Formats: sequence, C-alpha cells, structure tokens
Amino acid sequence: MSHVIHRSLAKVPLVAVGGKGVQLFDKAGKAYIDASGGAAVSCLGHAQPDVMAAMHRQIDQLAYAHTSFFTTEVQEELADHLVAHAPAGMTDVYFVSGGSEAVEAALKMARQYFVEIGQPERTHFVARRQSYHGNTLGALAVGGNEWRRKQFAPILMDVGRVAPAYEYRDRRADESQQAYTARLLAEIDAKFQELGTDKVIAFVAEPVVGATLGAIAAPAGYWTGLRALCDRYGILLIADEVMCGMGRTGSLHAVEQEGISPDLMTIAKGLGGGYQPIGAVLAQGRIVEAMRKGSGLFQHGHTYIGHPMAAAAALAVQKVIQRDQLMPQVLARGAYLQKQLHARFDTNPHVGDIRGRGLFWGVELVQDKDSKAPFDAALKLHAQIKAQAMANGVLCYPMGGTIDGKHGDHILLAPPFIISESELDQVVERLGDAIDTVLARNG
Ligand code: PLP
Repeated sequence: MSHVIHRSLAKVPLVAVGGKGVQLFDKAGKAYIDASGGAAVSCLGHAQPDVMAAMHRQIDQLAYAHTSFFTTEVQEELADHLVAHAPAGMTDVYFVSGGSEAVEAALKMARQYFVEIGQPERTHFVARRQSYHGNTLGALAVGGNEWRRKQFAPILMDVGRVAPAYEYRDRRADESQQAYTARLLAEIDAKFQELGTDKVIAFVAEPVVGATLGAIAAPAGYWTGLRALCDRYGILLIADEVMCGMGRTGSLHAVEQEGISPDLMTIAKGLGGGYQPIGAVLAQGRIVEAMRKGSGLFQHGHTYIGHPMAAAAALAVQKVIQRDQLMPQVLARGAYLQKQLHARFDTNPHVGDIRGRGLFWGVELVQDKDSKAPFDAALKLHAQIKAQAMANGVLCYPMGGTIDGKHGDHILLAPPFIISESELDQVVERLGDAIDTVLARNG
C-alpha cells in the first residue's frame, strides 16, 4: 500500500532502483532504454560520473544558503556560462526549481517590466491553443492543453488564444507554406489588435512544441514574423524552451535555428538533466535594467531559487555538453533516428506523420492516412503503446488530446544525447513492435 499521491490514483507504478547511461532499472531487475529521457529531461543519461562528482563536491561544501542573505559561487558561475551561450542580448538569469516555476517567473517579469516603464495598462497574454507551459495556475492559463486545464479553466486568468502552428493538420492542401505562415501571423496580428496592441504584455510559445503535440516546429518564417510583429507593438516575446531547449533540437537553444532572440526565455528539463530540479528564465538586459533602475527588485521569489546543489548539477551537465561537443552528436544521431523511423514506419498505414529536430522526434498515429482521421479517443492508443513499449523494455513519452476538436495519438522520443546508433536501432525496433502489437490488438 502506497501513501504517495501518484499521477494515476488507480495503480502504483513500478519501482525504479537504478540507472546507468541510457538505461533505467526497476526493482525486478528489468532494464529499459530511456528513449524519452523521462519527459525530455535526461540529456546525459543516468549516473554521468562528472555530474555525480560535481554534486558530491558541492554537498560537501555547501548544500543550501537562502538567496535573501547570500549568492553562491556556483550560481554565479552557472549564470555566466548560460549568458555566454545565450541568444543575443540575453544578459541575465533568474534561477528557479523547474519549468512551471520558470514560466510563472517569466510572466511576472514581463508584467513588472511594463509597470516599471510606465505601461501598467498592459495586462494580457496571448498564446497558442496547442501549447503546454506547465501546471501551476499562471502557466496553465497560458497553456492550451485542454485535458490539463479544463476543470481549472474557471479559476484561470483569461488569455488571448490563437491557432497552433501545426502544419501536418492545418495547412490547407492548396496553400503554400509561405501562405500558411502568413495566415498564422495575420491571426496573431488580429488578436493583438482585438485586445489592444498597447494592452498586451507578451506572446508566449514553444519554438518546438513538445508535451501537447510531439516535436512540432512552426513553419519557416513564423518566428521571424512573430518577432517583427511583437516589435511593431512593443509586445514582449517569451520563448518557452523548457522542453525543446538546452540542446534537445541540436542547437543549445531552439530559437537559434529560427534566427531570432526572444525577450524572455524559459529553460528547465535539460538544464539540470534530471540530476537536480532546476529551471531558469533568461532575460534581455533592458528588462532587468528597467527593474534595477525602477523599484530595484524583481517582485518574486521562492525558498529554493538559486539552490547550490541544483546549480552545481546544472553547471556540470552544461560543461559536459560543451566539453564533449554533444551538439554535433545530437544532430548526427538525430539524423540517424529520423532515417530509422522512416525506414520502420513509412509503410505503416497508421503512422501519419514523423517530425522533429535533433534528438526530439514525434510520431503521430492516425486511423486513416489520407483523411488524417484519428483513432477513437476512447481507445487511448497512446497509453496502450506506452505500456507495450515498456513491456518491450523501452520508455517513450506518449500523449493524446484534443486540439481544435481533433484528437491525436502522439509518441514523443527524446533520448539522451549520448545514445549510440545501435541503441537507437533497439529503440525503433522495440517501439515498432509495440505499435504493431497495439494496432493488431485494436483491429
Ligand atoms: N513548459 C514546457 C514547454 C513544458 O514542456 C513543461 C513540462 O513538460 C513545462 C513548461 C512545465 O515544466 P515542469 O513540469 O518542470 O514544471
């Protein structure tokens, strides 16, 4: 009998007892290839020796100091490292303990910035219907994941909502990609106008959508257009890179591939690689400068911000990524995974789309490839595939949900950056077998 409130109250999950490299082990001794890195977290896999050593050193020196009294060398060094590799103009970092906290802090920093510069009438956020930004109330409000937010909607702030950037389903057959991008941007422009261009605080979006749709990047030109649109009206652009950031897509930040720099950017999962809970907000210097010159403080704070153990783990993770030059490796292994996914699934009549960047891949299942009609949501195909894949010894991150009334079954893969080609072969083989088994079972 477990006294833990688990994610599912219906059953107690298996007990994890160990991890090494790309593998996790349960109490019964079964090994699993961690092909989703949890939820795109474990970028270096498990028990990475340099990270473990850095954490040991830190705990021997100092486990905790409250940030109202002290900073720590390790927090400062991590901030220096992040700023040295940040998109243009992002000169300041605010540390928190996870993704939702990072989004909350970014929303509040954006609002406070406008109060400080004398534009307190800016009170609205605009976001997309497909996004997931976290489970705390502010993050849930800007998120568009209906399944997660539905019962809480009456107590959430009102957020301007625009279409997903979801080319596979939403680009019309007779529409060029350029025209599709232009249509999406025109809708955002219209939403800004509707709410009042001087009333909007920020537009919030994931550069590559993870937890709602499975590794979907926006069409070409979307982010440059978005940047220009926000600049035209003085609206801030918040890039939520909690899942897609920190190297996952093959560049340290996903926005690098879009050629833009956001005003605020949230990072988390791959920042600490799961060794410690940590997230952060990267901010343009002018935003922090406005607060410094104005009230002199960011009106926010949690007990564990800037936690030395978390900072030590994250610093070590980021140094390993840099030392071992893992970004080119992510691109090379990602290209290999892409090739293997296509080889295994292109002939499957129920695999509608395979998309992704770097080591961040999504597979979308459909009942019918031509019409893209989804499977009956009641089948919970994604959950069946997760269970079967686990039985086959591979962990993948499935999701199902309704976006614009359309149900989808998606499988997300986000393996550690250190995964080998032969391990990727095993992932594809075991996942393929799980998908075949579940499809056969469901007729
Ligand atoms: N933002 C994005 C894009 C995410 O994918 C997630 C989590 O999946 C979050 C925010 C919330 O992060 P956390 O679960 O660490 O609170």
